[in-house]
Amino acid sequence: MTGSSCQRDGPVVTKRWQPPRGARGKAKCEKLARVSRVLVVEDEAHIRELIQLHLGLEGLDVEAVADGQQALVRAGSDPFDLIILDLMLPGVDGISICRAVRREGPNQDVPILMLTARREESDKVLGLESGADDYLAKPFGIRELVARARALLRRPRRSQLQAAAVPAGERPVEIHGLHIDPARRRVRVKGIDVDLTAQEFRLLHVLATHPGIVFSREALLTRVWPDHTFVTERSVDSLVKRLRRRIEKDPANPEIILTVWGSGYKAADV
Ligand code: CA
Repeated sequence: MTGSSCQRDGPVVTKRWQPPRGARGKAKCEKLARVSRVLVVEDEAHIRELIQLHLGLEGLDVEAVADGQQALVRAGSDPFDLIILDLMLPGVDGISICRAVRREGPNQDVPILMLTARREESDKVLGLESGADDYLAKPFGIRELVARARALLRRPRRSQLQAAAVPAGERPVEIHGLHIDPARRRVRVKGIDVDLTAQEFRLLHVLATHPGIVFSREALLTRVWPDHTFVTERSVDSLVKRLRRRIEKDPANPEIILTVWGSGYKAADV
């Protein structure tokens, strides 16, 4: 086995496949503005390599992993345009991965194509309920897989539709493990809902939508209390303290809402 081949004995196989130069011509006529990234999660080496090869020939940037744990790590840290996910995997199974990806991280609305064995009749329902977008039973023809993958990549993402429909000030913000959804007035810290008062929410939203920008106490007063007759700049300090207790891991050593001595406050740079 050569160095470029995949290890069959290691617990996890991760490699990025790039099509050889000559092969890129095929994808030229349908070249996208940006090369789509695909994560393939499949423990059977020959299927994994087949998918990698053919999606690579389509001009896609393909990364493949062989076990569930590694899939969670990759899907939790980098955004992909498509995930092809085998149901039966060592470690964490495909359904659990699907649910975890949908729950949090950068791939919550990524299209997921689930691969299963044909005899597992209930997989289709299970797979779709878990948040998969499409399903392909093994053994499948590679042309069909490529066609399904292409169809999923063409489908507009939920986040794109939402972004087009929602005014900028109401778009959800992701920053330092926080998910802030102004339309629903909801905040999640590492996936867990946190209750904030209207003032706490406004303060967080102002700072989080301008990371790294310092706001004076006076500037925050006018934004957080539109009718600020009875509040003073000290009120901003108390509000910051309360907000930190809600969202910071250690409110005494904040990592998200930072004090800028002599100036005011800012959200930490991203
Ligand atoms: Ca399998």
